[in-house]
Amino acid sequence: MRNIDLLTEQPLADLKSYARVEVMEASETFLTQTFLDEDRRFHREILEGEDHQPVALAASCADLTLGSLEPWVAKAYLAALTSPANEDAARRMFGLVRTNLVQAIDRAAWIDNQSRRASASKVSQTRLQFIGDVESKRLDKLVLTPGSFRAALVQIATHVNAEGLAEIGHPSSPPELYPNFGGAIYSRNVNALWVSPEIARPPYLDMGRFGAVSFGAFGTLIGHELAHSVSPDGIGYDAGAAPRDVVGDCTRCVQCAVAMPRAPARRRQERPREQDRRSTSP
Ligand SMILES: [Zn+2]
Repeated sequence: MRNIDLLTEQPLADLKSYARVEVMEASETFLTQTFLDEDRRFHREILEGEDHQPVALAASCADLTLGSLEPWVAKAYLAALTSPANEDAARRMFGLVRTNLVQAIDRAAWIDNQSRRASASKVSQTRLQFIGDVESKRLDKLVLTPGSFRAALVQIATHVNAEGLAEIGHPSSPPELYPNFGGAIYSRNVNALWVSPEIARPPYLDMGRFGAVSFGAFGTLIGHELAHSVSPDGIGYDAGAAPRDVVGDCTRCVQCAVAMPRAPARRRQERPREQDRRSTSP
């Protein structure tokens, strides 16, 4: 809402230009490859200073399909992988790791009292969510009827736009987590970890006993994501104000690679309207 308030202070001509750009961006996937090329050029090369990478149409189609249909495909696919035994074991491990992190925060002398109490309190309230816990109100309101892929896209776009319009003047609760193909993701909007049933199972998690492999694989993943509860984006700058390549460090670790197997694609997907509704972090 703060951004919308700022917009109202801009001249009308600028607002009209902005609206034109937004409409064009929202339509680009229904236009020609020239529009996809320009979108990539503007966002990656102009704004982020990356090297020129021509659009590979096949990869873009797969990306767009995933971006639009992911909640439904993930829900259908992942729901078939759940097992109460896996979830029990994962919840026990999560409880252990969370308790340990809270204790570590309590013992951390370098944190001032107020921040320490706030951090410990927030971490202790972080929840773990599985596929059955992310029955999104938003998602459940739309039941896709059988039909073509294009018909599904139109239904989704209509639904998302109608929800967005309905929120004007009536902001709803924060964006929800919904089923996705990330291995594990922390959502700051609901202070919860989403863990995929693909991860909460052997070989990452040994249900019988919590051995070294379970702690090294599943425990590390949980710990990493749980830490986002107090540091949602990591620390972007070091003490000398130089940018830290946090993600670069992160991807060298196997658990992180598990947590963000499609990091570049996600980054592209995170920008459009669909992902505004989901808060993810690598
Ligand atoms: Zn992370």
